[in-house]
Amino acid sequence: MSSFGRAQLRSVAKCISLVLSAGKRSAGRLVILMYHRVTGDTGLELDVRSSDFRRQIEWLARHCEVVSLQEGLSPRGVGGESDSPCATRVVITFDDAYEDFYSVVLPVLRDANVPATLYVPTAFIDDASKVPVSKGGPHTKLLRPLTWEMLRELSRSPLITLAAHSHGHSEYPSLSDAEILRDIAESDRRFDSELGFRPRHFAYPRGAWDERCERIVAGRYESIALVGGGSIDPLVLNPHRLTRIPVLFSDGFRWFKHRVEGRLIHEESIASMIRGRRR
Ligand SMILES: [Zn+2]
Repeated sequence: MSSFGRAQLRSVAKCISLVLSAGKRSAGRLVILMYHRVTGDTGLELDVRSSDFRRQIEWLARHCEVVSLQEGLSPRGVGGESDSPCATRVVITFDDAYEDFYSVVLPVLRDANVPATLYVPTAFIDDASKVPVSKGGPHTKLLRPLTWEMLRELSRSPLITLAAHSHGHSEYPSLSDAEILRDIAESDRRFDSELGFRPRHFAYPRGAWDERCERIVAGRYESIALVGGGSIDPLVLNPHRLTRIPVLFSDGFRWFKHRVEGRLIHEESIASMIRGRRR
């Protein structure tokens, strides 16, 4: 992509999605946002600029009801009782436990006094070379994990929920039943010995799942997070299929509000359609 670059493609896809979703509101719904990294130096869409992240969290704290994952799962109070313009319940989640969760994310959450959940792939914490991204590249060396010492401090914060994200970060559909059970047991063992507890919530590595994996994983965890799928109607919430909305680098602050309102839901399909036509 040269003259018509990635940023322009993203803007066009966002604009079209906005038009298609005109009038859409997420009021009364549960929005679970998904972040990975908030430094913005890798060029990855899942790495949001730290200055944008701070503005996004401050906006959420002012306009939405930001709740913990556990509160988000409970039906009590759901339905937009708040008079705020957004009247939406928002749960903030992070995948992969990168180091910047400690240095960048935690101070912002503390300043705004909002809770968040962090899904931790335990093998990455044990061994920084096990970077949980599918494709390597020049950015890989920037992706450093939190240490167990940092995670111990995070586990003592009332704002932070530490949750499971597998041990080895393999896509579960590619593993046998026995291999999935072994991976979960290893995640439990590392949590237990380093932090003194076993996590109650889980997110699939790379969002990959099928019904066979779900049967195994749902037997162990209270909730399971997916990737993508928009906001959730609290009346039909299935705790083992929590859809999450990824916040992207190209959202900046300008598009973020539309992201939370669910108006960028068509962005991915429009972007891949444009890419297809240009090939
Ligand atoms: Zn992951």
